[in-house]
Amino acid sequence: MNNPIYRGRFAPSPTGNLHFGTLLAAVGSYLQARSRHGQWLMRIEDVDTTRRVEGASDALLRALEKFGFEWDGSEVYQSARTELYEATLATLTEKELIYPCTCSRRQLTDLGEAQIYPGHCRHHHLPLKEEHALRLKVSDQIISFDDCVMGHYQQHLASECGDFVIRRRDGLFAYQLAVVVDDAEQGITEVVRGTDLLDSTPRQIYLQQQLGYPQPDYLHLPLLVDEHGQKLGKSTGAAALDLKHPAVSLHAALKLLGQQPPEELASDNLPTVWQWAIEHWDIAAIPRHNLVIG
Ligand code: GLU
Ligand code: ZN
Repeated sequence: MNNPIYRGRFAPSPTGNLHFGTLLAAVGSYLQARSRHGQWLMRIEDVDTTRRVEGASDALLRALEKFGFEWDGSEVYQSARTELYEATLATLTEKELIYPCTCSRRQLTDLGEAQIYPGHCRHHHLPLKEEHALRLKVSDQIISFDDCVMGHYQQHLASECGDFVIRRRDGLFAYQLAVVVDDAEQGITEVVRGTDLLDSTPRQIYLQQQLGYPQPDYLHLPLLVDEHGQKLGKSTGAAALDLKHPAVSLHAALKLLGQQPPEELASDNLPTVWQWAIEHWDIAAIPRHNLVIG
């Protein structure tokens, strides 16, 4: 057999407790990897050190362990990978794809909700100084891909996004750059995550193309939202998960993902629930719409 190995990952940002929305993404990506006898890696996305909450990554990892998640190898921390991101920035700079943006916060807020950057600073030819944000030039091109759950998706980066920031004014690398470098460097073959990142995917594919990286498959899972359509998360005060009855929460997560676990499985032990879930995992059953709870 010459099956290329499946390698997935879970990449939480350690900004708070494990809540149901995070669990759903973890369960989806885990089942996708384990049902294919693939690997599943753990990456802590703490590149934005200004949002770091003391002790949060440890708490998150311990909570995931209580749910029975087992990741391959030891976890990787973005905060320890600055050199890799620097090297990638150097490559992009060499390709003349990077320029400093001196726009004020005010100018950028004036762009409104959509934040489409019109390329003000593209032609200023300013030197690359430390205190400026760095943007990546996008090309006049449609980026499209077929998501395994959400279907066909496309974006014309120039008009729907504009040149985007890859290193922030405060010197921190942007999520878009870090995630692309890490997915490539860790050999990820499929990215499974929440649909809140569906519209980031064309930027990531574009970056992969500029860097000559392979393009992973993508599978975006429906989000948990409240009755106002707001993503449930720490910012909306989503309750931390009760770790005393993980099998019950796991059973509920499976149902939200469209799976049909027998009711009595909820009172079974964790390994039995996982075994059922891996054997019966069916991505065709995953809903394509957001899931309203609460
Ligand atoms: N760190 C991101 C989050 O917690 C997920 C990034 C990704 O899966 O690409 O929302
Ligand atoms: Zn600018």
